[in-house]
Amino acid sequence: MTARIIDGKDASARLKTAITAAVADLKAKHNVIPGLATVLVGEDPASQVYVRSKQKTATAAGMNSFQHDLPATTSQADLLALVKKLNADPAVNGILVQLPLPKHIDQNVIIQTIDPAKDVDGLHPESAGRLVAGSDGFVPCTPMGCLMLATDVEPNLAGKNAVVVGRSILVGKPVALLLLNENCTVTMAHSKTKDLPAVCKTADVLVAAVGRAEMIKGDWIKPGAIVIDVGINRIPTPEGKGRLVGDVAFQEAANIAGAITPVPGGVGPMTIACLMLNTLKAACRAHNVTDVAIPARLPKA
Ligand code: NDP
Repeated sequence: MTARIIDGKDASARLKTAITAAVADLKAKHNVIPGLATVLVGEDPASQVYVRSKQKTATAAGMNSFQHDLPATTSQADLLALVKKLNADPAVNGILVQLPLPKHIDQNVIIQTIDPAKDVDGLHPESAGRLVAGSDGFVPCTPMGCLMLATDVEPNLAGKNAVVVGRSILVGKPVALLLLNENCTVTMAHSKTKDLPAVCKTADVLVAAVGRAEMIKGDWIKPGAIVIDVGINRIPTPEGKGRLVGDVAFQEAANIAGAITPVPGGVGPMTIACLMLNTLKAACRAHNVTDVAIPARLPKA
């Protein structure tokens, strides 16, 4: 194996340390404590784990965490009423509605009701529009994590060929826009792309956000490329527990790439840290604070 393994756990720990220091600074200078409201509808076990982890991370960073756990039978009207209440609450700087929502609730209606100034998940159309315009809005957390890991390996991505496989609004599209903002030459690939291996082979920076286990093979990778694997796929194992793998065939790719994220332990741990970063940003903006350092890149070890 020749590639540098990009350690997402270490990277997210570095980011959380910087955020914790900034939260303390914000409190000391302005007596402001960032507040993150989490809204969970129903009892999906995976969603429960994610939400608890977000709450715990917020508290550990010195933020206030406001928890709203609602039954799966909650009506769309009641959920909208809660979101509007949180929009109006000055102690709440960020609103995180855990997705997916139960089928009887229109996810888009809920997301569009969140005050864009509190849209720390970066999923509101205004946030998406700001990203397209290159103006300062909230960037979705997983794409932000991908960019931070890539720029930690190579701070200057200008002129690099970047290929993003996957074009979802959650991951692929925002990652491509972030790479474009870094002055990469960006190709977006998807299920209709012709000769995907050849397209991937042009990438100095390859981001895989597909959701297909180990689809991207070692010989699709350009020697020395930075490979960011967003995919989380569970594959069966003989003992029945299953095993998590990414969208990239890791062992093969690690013999050719210059740097690569593992799955698990790569992009995954960055997502929650980036949510904290957005919540800190939202609190600073709400109070017109400009003298607290908000990390734009991963702090060095
Ligand atoms: P989506 O299913 O929304 O999008 C998948 C994308 O992959 C689509 O654009 C699709 O193309 C493309 N695609 C599917 N099959 C192929 C193929 N054979 N060749 C090329 N492109 C293909 O997934 P998400 O973007 O939401 O998530 C992608 C992966 O990232 C998943 O494994 C998910 O679990 C993981 N993930 C991880 C996160 C984390 O680490 N925190 C957070 C979010 C997601 P088309 O548009 O043409 O259909």
